[in-house]
Amino acid sequence: MGFVLASNMGKVLLEPMRDILLSSHTAAVCIFVNFVSECSKWAKRLEDLLVNAFSSVAVITIHGEMDKNERFGFVQLFTGHFVMANYDCRALVGTAAFNTGINNKQLQLVNRFGIPRCVATSLQEQGRNACVAGMSGAYVILTNWKMFIKLSLYILIPNKNTAEQPTEYAGVNSAISPRKTTTPCPPTNTMQIPLTREETENIKSLALDNLLDSLSMYTLPGFGYIHCRSEWFMAMGELLPPPEMMMPCDTQCYVCNDEYKHSFLPVVYSGAIKFLDSRKFEFVNTYVMTVGNCEDFLDILAKDKDWLRIVFGKEKVANFYVSGFFLQLLATKILTFEIVSGNSLRLVVTRDKYDVKRYKHPMAWEGIEFRMSARGGQTMEFKEVVTRISTASAAMQDI
Ligand SMILES: [Zn+2]
Repeated sequence: MGFVLASNMGKVLLEPMRDILLSSHTAAVCIFVNFVSECSKWAKRLEDLLVNAFSSVAVITIHGEMDKNERFGFVQLFTGHFVMANYDCRALVGTAAFNTGINNKQLQLVNRFGIPRCVATSLQEQGRNACVAGMSGAYVILTNWKMFIKLSLYILIPNKNTAEQPTEYAGVNSAISPRKTTTPCPPTNTMQIPLTREETENIKSLALDNLLDSLSMYTLPGFGYIHCRSEWFMAMGELLPPPEMMMPCDTQCYVCNDEYKHSFLPVVYSGAIKFLDSRKFEFVNTYVMTVGNCEDFLDILAKDKDWLRIVFGKEKVANFYVSGFFLQLLATKILTFEIVSGNSLRLVVTRDKYDVKRYKHPMAWEGIEFRMSARGGQTMEFKEVVTRISTASAAMQDI
């Protein structure tokens, strides 16, 4: 499986899908998205690519706002249980609600557009591909900062017109069909029970926790190989660090094969702390983010040589590495969101129950990869970071 932080999603996401469809008459591909509106958008783009390549493959979309019978029909078409003459539908774009029941034995590539709302959803999606022994499938998560903020806004401010109309409510079992309501509510069979304000808040924070688990799974390579973390999640039912003796898969997951280095840069531990303590963090902290402007502060930081040197030990890095760093700060819960208004958020430092800033605890940084401050310095294991800090603080006590 892979993970890509990219701004040009269309190219990264769609061209390999087109090539797979063109190379075989049976291969199928699938895209999972977080929002209904993204279904039609990506289906249209993939279809355009296919038309330009003189392919007659049809792209179908499946989401919770469709008529039940129509949906059923499309699922049967995609899985090959129902065949229509001259209708070759080997490409599907769907929301997470349909990641079960769409078993297509020839599925070769599943692209996940945006971080999945919970780890279980993601594992179900991953399980759709390469069902036949000997097939090599692929599951690739593509995301960027803007998509993550859009989804977070949506979870935290579901009743407001933050982005677009709600789809599945996050955090619940993705196999449960969505309801057409703007208020999050637990599954009910016959009636909708109005929730108290407190219950609504609890559901929202649960949904955000699920999303952050998912973010942690995919953006913190220091916690171990993704394939081990996935297996451990399935065995334990929650996201826990796997036992160290688990073996690498070498090629199948992007942590084992080092591909994560294309999305995340090692961070200078002391520099990252220095930044969070500095005036520059005040700039980030007071920056009010909407879906429209949420990437602007990252662009400013990505041009700031001093900042880059402090945090990454380099003076020039690609913009997406900066967003990768902020995704990691959210995944470790070093930073968290504060709602500013009906459609905006800002980033604030998380504090523990004693009001101590979370980033002051070295253990909060586990999962991020570190490097020495010197240019071109080697990466450093988290254990070494902790050893260095304890040595330094012991030396302080001697004085
Ligand atoms: Zn692996």
